[in-house]
Amino acid sequence: MKSGFVAIVGKPNAGKSTLINALIHEKVSIISHKAQTTRNSIIGVLNQEDLQIVFLDTPGIHKANTILGNYMNKEAFKQADGVDVIYYLCDAKKGLDDQDREILEQMFSYHVPIFLLLNKIDLISKDQLVSRVIYANENYKFTEIIPISAGNQENLQELLDTTLKYIHDDIQFYPEDVTTNTTIEFRISELIREKILQLTHEEIPHSVAVTVDKMQRDEYDKVHVYANIIVERASQKGMVIGKGGKLLKEVGIRARKDIEALLGNKVYLELWVKVDKDWRNKKSHIEDMGYRSSDYKK
Ligand code: GDP
Ligand code: MG
Repeated sequence: MKSGFVAIVGKPNAGKSTLINALIHEKVSIISHKAQTTRNSIIGVLNQEDLQIVFLDTPGIHKANTILGNYMNKEAFKQADGVDVIYYLCDAKKGLDDQDREILEQMFSYHVPIFLLLNKIDLISKDQLVSRVIYANENYKFTEIIPISAGNQENLQELLDTTLKYIHDDIQFYPEDVTTNTTIEFRISELIREKILQLTHEEIPHSVAVTVDKMQRDEYDKVHVYANIIVERASQKGMVIGKGGKLLKEVGIRARKDIEALLGNKVYLELWVKVDKDWRNKKSHIEDMGYRSSDYKK
């Protein structure tokens, strides 16, 4: 048995959640093109014969000015300290910049092998990729530099094979059938939040939270899910609901499909939109939504 921990870190939108889902062939972390989609750390466990790798998907590291934002940054750094390998994801189209440098300085202080994963290579030319690799080599001491496309699942086997050289535990950390650490309610609330992020614009993404209040199985084995969508302002409530309830309806249709796939049951989904001014700065509320309390002190 060979096992180990790998933290996936980087700036928002680099493709961290896409990568973890691709590596373990299951949607454990939601994805959108909006920054700050992933709010807390989610694990994805790869189970193969005589092999278990625990991947940690972390929130993108960014300039934070709310309690939630602060929590997200701390969470990412905390997860990276003490793992066997750090995957540092970079959008290859954008390349490494000053903000990456700041984050990497701290990451290198952990004395953990850091792989630079140049992601989204489907979007750039070979020449561009070569110049990215040269730049990284000249400016940093990465243990490995691996170009990938998480979206197209390109070069992921090579990534896994290389990772195996750096993991040395022989403990099975999780039972074979476990793929993630979050509760079913959390996964459902995240699927709903993902659809809202996909369908709304501008300030909504950062202002929305979703909680699942109740789940009940009826006599026909259909699961009734009652969820709240929380926004910060009345005007945002209107945006989430949409003209004649159109947007909320579409959120419901898309989310229900994913929840049915997750549960393997028919689902009845009831969504309520509520306004809670400034929830992102309220500790008690953030706790209710599953973000652990001791970790988001300002
Ligand atoms: P995260 O914030 O780092 O977790 O990034 P996500 O996994 O949520 O992805 C951010 C955006 O990049 C999404 O729109 C993804 O579909 C997109 N994306 C991720 N990986 C790739 C890739 O390899 N190629 C392309 N073209 N897009 C990608
Ligand atoms: Mg993410």
